Amino acid sequence: MLSKPPRYRIGLAASRAHQDAADSALVRLLQGGQAAIETHLQPQFIVVGRTLDAIRNHGLLPGYPSIERFPYGREGGLMMLVSRVVDTDPAKTLDAVIYLMDPVDPSSNFPEAQALKRQCVIHGKPFLSTLAGAREWLELEAVAVGAAPDPTLDATFDLANESIALIAHDAMKGRMLELAEQHFELLDRFAMRCATGTTGGLLNQLAQKIKGQDAGRNWVRPFLSGPMGGDAQIAELILHRQCRRVLFLEDPHVARQHEADIQLLERAARTVTDYASCSSDAKGVERWLSLLAVRSERTA
Ligand code: PGA
Repeated sequence: MLSKPPRYRIGLAASRAHQDAADSALVRLLQGGQAAIETHLQPQFIVVGRTLDAIRNHGLLPGYPSIERFPYGREGGLMMLVSRVVDTDPAKTLDAVIYLMDPVDPSSNFPEAQALKRQCVIHGKPFLSTLAGAREWLELEAVAVGAAPDPTLDATFDLANESIALIAHDAMKGRMLELAEQHFELLDRFAMRCATGTTGGLLNQLAQKIKGQDAGRNWVRPFLSGPMGGDAQIAELILHRQCRRVLFLEDPHVARQHEADIQLLERAARTVTDYASCSSDAKGVERWLSLLAVRSERTA
């Protein structure tokens, strides 16, 4: 069976609405990602109680050996996941968190849910809160270790038909520009790039430097600045399924006057969980861009 030590240790939880139905997000994630999980990545899962009950009830991951049970949410399971994200012990720490969140479930606003995401951003660990984001992460990580690309996902990787949103808080704008310059050719393949106002202005300056004054002028479509409502404008695109991916380099160390807008944008992605994803940490975004290039080459 599984001979190699687990490469990743993944915390796993799902809101109730994403657990029980035969076609729930949890079922679709573990069925669609089965080969990536069982054959290619063989991660260790740490699963919050009720989510593990649902996995067992659905007969998912039968015989999979690397599952540790954490307590139910009401007994602190989610709080314990936060502690594992920040743990420096390599035998305990989580490398990524998948939390399939239902934005209208009050538990998605509990402090431990907010802290789980924030500590993932601070510690540079992917926080995957939508079905599409988690499925794509498993796919790209599997491709990185040699798996053949899953053809059922090819349409979502056809960048000429895809849009992407690029947003960075002030302390992260320099990093966004570095990443955009480094991965310019890849980002240039998207049908449409959009951004909040200030980030968009800077990205268009970069594009003008690379592509020339005229060709780069409208490289990204700038919406209003984030604090003036740009996040909400991009959220509407997501809700209309016109923009699937958001790269949002967040600064978790400052109080944000438009915190509600930031959360609104993430909640929009979770509202269309099978469609959209939102990545918030620079390390995860960098890896995503690199692996996207790898997958593109494999399918070229
Ligand atoms: P900005 O907005 O690109 O206009 O700075 C980003 C944000 O703070 O949401």
